[in-house]
Amino acid sequence: MVDMESMARALRLTFRQSAEGLIIEESLGKRATLCAISNGNHFVRVTSRNADVPERMIQLSSTPLTAQSRIYLPINQACRLLTLWLNRPVEYNEATGRITASLKAQDIVESVATIGLIKKSEEQGGGDGNGSQNKSAKTVITGIDVENRANGSIITFMASGPLAQAALLKPDTEGNIYFSFDNASCDVDALTKVYKSGMVRAITAKQFPDAGLQFTIALDTRSSVINSVDFQYNKKNNSYAIYTRSNADVEAIRIKEKEQQIAQVLSRDVEKWKLNTIVLDAGHGGKDPGAIGGNGTQEKDVVLNIVHDLGTFIEQKWPDVRVIYTRKDNTFIPLHERGKIANRHGGKLFISVHCNASPNHSARGSEVYILGAHKNQAALDVAMLENAVIRNEADYQNEYKGFTEEHLIMSSMAQNAFAKQSTTLAQDILQPSSRKVVNSNRAVRQAGFMVLWTPSMPSALVEVGYVSNPAEEQILRDRQEQAKIAYGIFKGIQIYRKNYETSTMASMNQ
Ligand SMILES: [Zn+2]
Repeated sequence: MVDMESMARALRLTFRQSAEGLIIEESLGKRATLCAISNGNHFVRVTSRNADVPERMIQLSSTPLTAQSRIYLPINQACRLLTLWLNRPVEYNEATGRITASLKAQDIVESVATIGLIKKSEEQGGGDGNGSQNKSAKTVITGIDVENRANGSIITFMASGPLAQAALLKPDTEGNIYFSFDNASCDVDALTKVYKSGMVRAITAKQFPDAGLQFTIALDTRSSVINSVDFQYNKKNNSYAIYTRSNADVEAIRIKEKEQQIAQVLSRDVEKWKLNTIVLDAGHGGKDPGAIGGNGTQEKDVVLNIVHDLGTFIEQKWPDVRVIYTRKDNTFIPLHERGKIANRHGGKLFISVHCNASPNHSARGSEVYILGAHKNQAALDVAMLENAVIRNEADYQNEYKGFTEEHLIMSSMAQNAFAKQSTTLAQDILQPSSRKVVNSNRAVRQAGFMVLWTPSMPSALVEVGYVSNPAEEQILRDRQEQAKIAYGIFKGIQIYRKNYETSTMASMNQ
């Protein structure tokens, strides 16, 4: 504890005792200010001889004590008070036990300016200043709102009742700021709160017996330095707002936020690229039987069974993959509708299953096609055969307008992003390990299949064999052979999926 009179004398300040307490005066040039310290009052009043300079209050964290008619303060409190009042550093060195005071005013105005005061007399207007008339009307702090910004925060105290005299103390070394009200109250428990994120870590309310109310606001000073703290009274909604600003690197925060956004988009992309929906298209159906074998085997029945088995394999082996069927029974689905179904369900892969037919009954084997300009007459023949169904469709002239060679090339280009993947898919289905597809020894072909035109995803059309070849027709109509063929296609998709996900994820992590 230090004797404030001795402190004043050491600092070449004049002082006198008055009814209010100890009055210390600094008369430096024009700016003469008085500091009134009263026994038992934790607010120190600073006034100026110049009537234009507003009165301000400096709050002490402990009340002054009087002994033998002298006023004492804890040494740290005394130094802080003098520093704030005089605008020049007065420091106590604990190690040496010395108090050092600069006689030269330093520009610490900013930190002093952070100490705000709302005077009650503002509200009283032209009254005679007799404060006792309003003493019964108490201010109630009804709520606290904390708004976090990139480099600071706004803490708003909502109030009811008259304007209270309020004072704000700048942060101490631990990052606590003290906000005090005279003649005020609040629900202490309700307004004491810990905050999980943001600059404000906790707010503690404390009610004093003399109707003083103090909020201790603990700020997060671990990663940034608090540059300034100030406050404002908002008459409109009777609230007091404290503004804190830190040296937080706003640019760094923005970059971090941007990175988080990108990471989010990337994870959405990963989701988007995940091979999690496979569309299976059994060719033909309903009024369109497709190719018919010498023994009356209909393509639409064979491929429906194969697609059913293929879907079952996928669902059993990959529970995370959704299987969409363009048809599950003997119904007619227009070709353009099949691609639309695939797009509507967000398909990642489109596989159309067909049986081939040829006037040459010895033609045999399986083939896998992707969309593109026909490379040869044979491919064109297959495309023409499969596209022939269009004529069965009621409104084909409108639905397939522009389905010309030229448009096929264009749509093929539009599908360019998927063209490579489609080729890979087709190749994988043709792999020896997946060759349960009948006698496959042919290469991936390109042809203008209408059904491959619309889906916006890697697509392939599998011709599982020739129903026009008597030997292959026997195999194709056998239920067990159908399952084997389906398993062969599944193995191809499995190879494709493994390579696809490995390469996609690798490129995304770059
Ligand atoms: Zn077909």
